[in-house]
Formats: sequence, structure tokens, C-alpha cells
Amino acid sequence: MHPTLNIPPIAVPFVSERAKQLLDKVEQFVNEECIPAEAVYQSQIGTGIERFRGHPSVLDDLKKKAHAVGIWNMFLPKNHFKEGPQFTNAEYGLMAEQLGKSFIASEACNCSAPDTGNMEVIARYGSAAQKEKWLKPLMAGEIRSAFLMTEPNVASSDGSNIQLRMERRGDHYVLNGTKWWSSGAADDRCKIYITMGKTDPTNPDKYKQQSMMLVPAGTPGITIHRMLSVYGYDDAPHGHCHITFKDVKMPLDAMVLGEGRGNEIMQGRLGPGRIHHAMRGIGASERALELLINRLNDERKISFGKPLYEHGVLIEWIAKARIEIDASRLIVLNAAIKTDQKDARHALKEIAQAKVKVPQVALDVIDKAVQVHGAMGVCQDTPLAFMWAHLRTLRIADGPDEVHLQQLGRRENRSRKDAIKAKLERQAAKSDQLFRQMGLQKVELGAEKFRAKM
Ligand SMILES: Cc1cc2nc3c(=O)[nH]c(=O)nc-3n(C[C@H](O)[C@H](O)[C@H](O)COP(=O)(O)OP(=O)(O)OC[C@H]3O[C@@H](n4cnc5c(N)ncnc54)[C@H](O)[C@@H]3O)c2cc1C
Repeated sequence: MHPTLNIPPIAVPFVSERAKQLLDKVEQFVNEECIPAEAVYQSQIGTGIERFRGHPSVLDDLKKKAHAVGIWNMFLPKNHFKEGPQFTNAEYGLMAEQLGKSFIASEACNCSAPDTGNMEVIARYGSAAQKEKWLKPLMAGEIRSAFLMTEPNVASSDGSNIQLRMERRGDHYVLNGTKWWSSGAADDRCKIYITMGKTDPTNPDKYKQQSMMLVPAGTPGITIHRMLSVYGYDDAPHGHCHITFKDVKMPLDAMVLGEGRGNEIMQGRLGPGRIHHAMRGIGASERALELLINRLNDERKISFGKPLYEHGVLIEWIAKARIEIDASRLIVLNAAIKTDQKDARHALKEIAQAKVKVPQVALDVIDKAVQVHGAMGVCQDTPLAFMWAHLRTLRIADGPDEVHLQQLGRRENRSRKDAIKAKLERQAAKSDQLFRQMGLQKVELGAEKFRAKM
């Protein structure tokens, strides 16, 4: 369907004509350029360690095409950054849905994680010199970046646990510690690591102990030990690294925003990024549904005398997928619109809903698409197995589901419990008053008493 016709009516007032036009271009680019280039990308990566040296040239071709048609850096939200092409989170969210249909489309448009979140950090919190040195080439797509927070020996979903030591010694800092799941850090094009560490380990406020620093890749003392796999996929040439820092010397001006501001920056970084991830998840779900429908209508596949689409259970999977995807899209767009009205802090509840809901829906739709493909669904002949592995990680990365659910549940409980109690008491009192006014005896609730009166 034409994407501008596919914007949910409830979101239409929040999408400008300019965004609608670009949305059409993004959809066309993904369908006509990126998806056909995926197999070429895979075959250009090569084998063995070569997979992490260089990158497929077809991606450079795609980048040039995207730049030429003006679909570039759409992610920087309008109300916070003058550097980007000025789209709202809702507008970019709809574009991210299209990008999510292909695993190379986001990078082709310079809209891929972790660069997007990293560019937001530097744009929002960086000094003029940091912007000049790192933001400019990142926005031009000339270099890439990594975000180094997670560590192997602590529960990293709680940012206050991060241990990498950033010790100030006179006119510089010395960094020591270990990171893992540093996505993209080994990519040849990755030139900068946004690194989280501890500058003030004894600060009584545990959320003021951490800081964020811009550490150039290849700084002496940094060692990449190994690449981690995701359900067996190496995600080359991006990949996920296990890294150590041994007496890494950094100048004072590498600090972002100031000592003790690391947790604050991290919170600011993750809000819009979660919306983007979620909308890409909607796109992945749509692609899985397309593959599912295509397979059900494959005329060669006749099972027990009928084509697959005549088996009721399979048709029901299409219907359920349609309902869940459409409902999830509304949840994400709601979070995006609320974020646009003020900022991500204003929409924490809505963002958490989107962050938890979308990967679960996407995984279910992909799983059904795998199922209707039979054995073919689990191998490399469709993108489904890779999509499943990628989407599964979103239930852990950027904060595990349980953490978001806990915060969401607590917030809902805290903000509503007193008002609910007061309302129920008011209703009960009013009900008692009505009984008295009408001279009626109130029937006590409870099955035993009710039966006794009958
Ligand atoms: C593919 C991929 C890419 C990644 N890329 C990056 C990256 O580029 N940079 C980076 O820094 N990190 C990255 N990560 C790491 C990711 O952000 C962390 O794995 C995530 O924050 C969880 O931290 P942890 O692994 O230390 O798990 P832990 O914090 O140890 O949590 C483990 C489990 O404990 C449970 N749990 C934790 N807290 C609670 C709670 N409050 N209530 C109930 N249950 C709880 C949850 O089930 C959770 O999954 C990536 C991860 C993956 C899989």
C-alpha cells in the first residue's frame, strides 16, 4: 500500500506534507533498492576474519542514492536539534517503519543505531569543539561510532552499576575497565566510542558517580579481545565486541557535559532511540507478514488437498498479525506524539509500552512466518531466521522487558492508587445514600448471604 495512505488516521494531523512526500521516497528506496541489495551485501562481506575488515561496497552505493534523493539523517527530532532535516518523532517514526523492513536500509540513510543515539548525545550535550570533530563526520556518514556502557561483571541494565574507572590525574583522565556488547566498535569505519565510566565512586548519590567520555577508537591501551555472536550470527561487519581499557589516557576535554552527568545523558539518549527501534520492529513485522502471505499463496504448496491459504488456522494467523501490528503501531505513534509535545521524560510511560510491546508482537509474527515456511523458515533462504534473532535481542538491549514493566507498573500504581481508592469510597457512599433515600435494605455482597435471602 502507498505509505501515505497507510498512515493511521489518528496520526495524520501530526504529519506534514513534506514528511508525507519523504515517506513515499523512503518506502520506494527500501522496496526498490535496499531489499534487492541485501543478498549482494551478504555475499560481499566474505568469510572468516575478513568479515570484519572493510564493508560491502553496495552499501556505499546505497548511501549515495539515499543522499541524492534527500533521505538522510531523518532521525534527529525537530524540537531539539537544529542540525537535522527537522522532522518530528512521529514523522520519523513512520519513516523508521519503512527502514525496519530491510536490515541495511537504516544505515544506507545514516539512520542506524548506535550512530543515531550517539549523534543525539553529541548534538544535545557536546561542546562546540566536540560537535565539529565528531558530529560533523557522523552526520555526513563518513565515520561510525560505538556506545560503550555494558560490562560483563555487573547487572548493566542498572546504569549505576557501571564500573569502568575514569580517574582524574592532573590534566588528564586514566581509564581502566572492561566492556562488552560494544556494537560496531571493531568496524573499520568506527572512529569514536562514547564511553560510560565512574569518575566519583564514593559519591553518596549513586547516579552521580558516572560520566560519559568521547574516546577515539585505537587509543593506546584499548584492546578488542573477541567478537560476540547473536544466536550464532556475527552481525559482521558491525559486530559486538569484548573490549578492555588498560591505563587509557584521555584529555579533560574528552568529557561530555561534565563529571557525574553520565546517567543523565544516558536517559536523554534512550528515549527517542526506543521509539525508533520500536517503529523499525513494526516494519520488520510487516515484512514478515508479507512473507507469510506470500507463502500461503504459493500454488506449489498443496497440503492435504488444499492450498495453505484454505487452512483456517493459517488464515487466522494473518488476521491476528494484522490486529497486533496495527495496535502496536498506534502504541508507538502515541509515544512519539507525546514525546514531540515536550520531551522523552514527558512520555516515559508511553515509550515503555512501545519498547515492551513491539518486540513481542514482531517475534510472534516472525515465528508464524517461519512456521508456514516449514524447514525453509529456519535457514538462510529467507530473512526470517536472522530477523528473529535480531528482534529477540530487543527484549534485552536498551533495558530488559522486566525493568520497563517494573517501572511502568510502579508508575501506574503510584500515580493512580489514591485517586482510585477515593473514587471507589465516594461511589460506595453515594450508593448507601441512594439506598437510604429509597428506603431499601442493601443486599450484602457475598454468595452465602445472597442465597440465604432468596
Ligand atoms: C545485540 C546486542 C547489542 C547490544 N549493543 C550494546 C551496545 O552497543 N552498547 C552497550 O553498552 N550495550 C549493548 N548491549 C547490551 C545491553 O544493553 C545489555 O545486555 C542490557 O542493558 C542488559 O544488561 P545485562 O546484559 O548486564 O543484563 P542484566 O542487567 O544482568 O540483567 C539480566 C536479566 O535480569 C533481569 N533483570 C534485571 N534487572 C531487573 C529488574 N529490575 N527487575 C526484574 N528483572 C530484572 C532481566 O530478566 C534481565 O534480562 C547489547 C546487547 C545485545 C544483545
